[in-house]
Amino acid sequence: MTKVPTETSGVIIASDTYAVARGNFRFQHQAWVFCFVLLAACGCGSTDRPPRSEKSNVIDDTQSTSQKRDDAENRAELSFKDYNLVFVSFDALQAAHVSCLGYPRRVTPTIDSIAARGFSFRNAASVSSWTVPASMTWFTGVYPSEHRMVNKYAVYDPPETRIADLRDLSPNLVTLADVLKQHGYATGGFTGNAGVSGGFGYEQGFDTYYYVKGKFGRMDESIPRALEWLKTNKDKKLFLFLHGYDVHGQSTPPGGYDYRFVDEDYDQRYRGAELEQELLREEGLQKGALTMRDEDVRFWRAIYDEKIQRADAKFKRFLDEFTRLGLMDKTIFVLTSDHGTEFFEHRRIDHGFSLYQELVHVPLIIQLPGRRKGVTIDDRVSSIDLMPTMLDLLGIEPSEKVRRQLRGQSLVPAIQGSTVKRDVFSETNYREYTYKRSITAPDGWKLIFTLEQPARELYNLRDDPGETKDLSTANSGKADELERRLFEHFKSIGHDLEARSWPIGLNPVYPSQAK
Ligand SMILES: [Zn+2]
Repeated sequence: MTKVPTETSGVIIASDTYAVARGNFRFQHQAWVFCFVLLAACGCGSTDRPPRSEKSNVIDDTQSTSQKRDDAENRAELSFKDYNLVFVSFDALQAAHVSCLGYPRRVTPTIDSIAARGFSFRNAASVSSWTVPASMTWFTGVYPSEHRMVNKYAVYDPPETRIADLRDLSPNLVTLADVLKQHGYATGGFTGNAGVSGGFGYEQGFDTYYYVKGKFGRMDESIPRALEWLKTNKDKKLFLFLHGYDVHGQSTPPGGYDYRFVDEDYDQRYRGAELEQELLREEGLQKGALTMRDEDVRFWRAIYDEKIQRADAKFKRFLDEFTRLGLMDKTIFVLTSDHGTEFFEHRRIDHGFSLYQELVHVPLIIQLPGRRKGVTIDDRVSSIDLMPTMLDLLGIEPSEKVRRQLRGQSLVPAIQGSTVKRDVFSETNYREYTYKRSITAPDGWKLIFTLEQPARELYNLRDDPGETKDLSTANSGKADELERRLFEHFKSIGHDLEARSWPIGLNPVYPSQAK
């Protein structure tokens, strides 16, 4: 589990990275199997159940016939055919700031209330650390390298610029909304725009897709429109995507902050403005690291908490109205975030540049109709699994084409109590400033590989959840093993990381930078 920041947490020294000569890469070209072990169900109703024991990295087919039949029966119970699906993204919500995941301040009472009767994946990772690549994976079920939405611009060579678009870059991909629409769903997306703007192809498959290009919009805008859409369509099968940038660094509450969590004696060096955060992000990129005082870090976390609490309250109003519409008992809710936010854990602010836990560890809570008991699941899972999970829960059998497309696996067995043991992968090509790939093994070993240097970092998340001790030299054998699995994974999805170069520049992600 990721370390929960405390009120006094502040400076964590940036980890060293060790350059590794290309010639030292040794790949044993053995086929390796995605680690996926189905074990007997475990009653996971307690938030403090002991960690599961580690098992071998192979598929376990030792289940008895009766166990398999029981699983099949459970599976039938968990098929919510023709139910509604509401998928909510609180953009840039760091898992460690969610109260039901261990954050000491109670800033997410509404999300917690969903978790209290849902399934909380406490070790869910996003495939990327910023909006465009991470969010498109939810809707396509493939990795960012495959959907190719890895930058806001497909071409950025002034004066020629072209915005990235899924239909240009990966015209053959079928989206979650496409599939649901084909199965008779009314499909509506109501978003905070920017990185999930329709112009990128996010609108594919949606009957209605709300966004205002270029804005980092909040749920103040998306929720009322979503509710209007729900009222109009409530007698149909519904798929709703609800999104907002309320907690994102480029968003400020309407009317400004009330600084409810800021230390009374803070000297107001910062005030929480969007421009301040943007400047801190750029300074961190230009200098390689930032210098901040502990009280400044506390300030930024306090500002973040205020935004989270406000977003949570808006979501409560949405749920209240949703309940009044009589939809709650026939709806699956999936709550998550596309990525977290950095608060100087590794001496930077914002997100996108790295793949540390503060960025890729995201909340993932699934609430199922008729289920009233909160269950926590500690196994490491990925946002790559969400599209197959949602289709599975809705009892939708994907077409052969879609089945071939999907890289993840349904989390329904995990919900039913089976253990999930497979490697989790993340990637970022942030503004072509850096190209990073990471692998996290089920036992918590994590390797982050920076391709343009090249360099690698190795952490043991079980002992060092804050990723403060790079063990890539001390435990080079483990680093070699994970590096091989990482490169094999990308090769298996058609991306040989050794076969191309990684030219760096500083491509824009925000309109203000597109000079
Ligand atoms: Zn985002």
